[in-house]
Amino acid sequence: SPMVREYFLDNTNAPKIVAKLNANENPYGPPMSARKAVAESVERGNRYAWQEMYDLIGKIAKKEGVTPEHIMMGPGSSDLLEKVALVLFMNGKGNVVSADPCYMSLVNVAKTVGASWKAVPCTSDWSHDLKAMEAAVDSETKLVYICNPNNPTGSITSGKELLDFCSRVSEKVPIFVDEAYIELAVGADTQSMVSLLAQKKNVIVARTFSKIMGMAGIRVGYMAAQPEFLAQIQKITRGGMGISYTSIFAASASMDDTEFQVTTRKLNHEAKLYLYENLDKMGYKYIPSYTNFVIFPIGMSGRDLLSKMSAKGIGVRAFEIQNKPWCRVSIGTMDEMKLFVGALQQIS
Ligand code: PLP
Repeated sequence: SPMVREYFLDNTNAPKIVAKLNANENPYGPPMSARKAVAESVERGNRYAWQEMYDLIGKIAKKEGVTPEHIMMGPGSSDLLEKVALVLFMNGKGNVVSADPCYMSLVNVAKTVGASWKAVPCTSDWSHDLKAMEAAVDSETKLVYICNPNNPTGSITSGKELLDFCSRVSEKVPIFVDEAYIELAVGADTQSMVSLLAQKKNVIVARTFSKIMGMAGIRVGYMAAQPEFLAQIQKITRGGMGISYTSIFAASASMDDTEFQVTTRKLNHEAKLYLYENLDKMGYKYIPSYTNFVIFPIGMSGRDLLSKMSAKGIGVRAFEIQNKPWCRVSIGTMDEMKLFVGALQQIS
């Protein structure tokens, strides 16, 4: 049985949220450049956006060093994680190998349509246990899912080691690498696995505009993979059809807005250091994070944490990992982190 579980609260009577720190969103978005692009493109929203989508795919392909045939778009990367799970496992057979804990979207859909989950516990520093994952691959394995940096842990697996793992193991089975937080991994030995596509490796790399680009509600993501792999998925379910005309223009504008991305990375890092400093003072042992959220064990039940935080208007998440309750808090603005730290002091 899995070692990670999540608590939820029926908090219909909760006061208004003053600090929403429960969904790893970017508090600074959407970038002004993207807002302007949405406003300017909305008048053409009576049209399908095939050419515009094709232009965006071309721009993404160029950035990733692949051809447009290597790119499939979706309204957020969730859509692509779920579609891959549905198509690969819709005959109800096979297994998916992933770390435990990991981001559960793909695994949950695979399980729902009948796949089994081979959960491989993380190492003691919460990185992927690549040796154990390789050993877990068997003749029934249809996919390996890797989330790097990982969620809900925020931890990182060495880019060099992961590249080696993907390069070898993808000869046996496709490897899906979810890089939702990769741009936020300050100070880590990290690299995108997209370089393996040029070497004809069977990897699938998912990226999103929801985190570094600050557009979780605008809904744009993509995956880069071998054209044959994408053809297999798109035979059943099309990419791109779920993205609105305005979102395409927002995505394109945000890609050009390096200033926004640099600022997000900097402010996220500063607010995270402030949080670390205060968690240290209070004696909480957090997992060092390479993302825009931090997780740490707490001395109360997950249910108590959620109700006490929600009574103060603060949204966080509560997980049970290795039979202990943990608090996962997203990195908001500095002001929001001050509210969170103040609340944590009061309820501790
Ligand atoms: N992958 C990971 C690891 C995530 O944490 C998230 C969202 O939190 C997603 C994918 C999905 O994001 P989106 O569908 O907004 O691209």
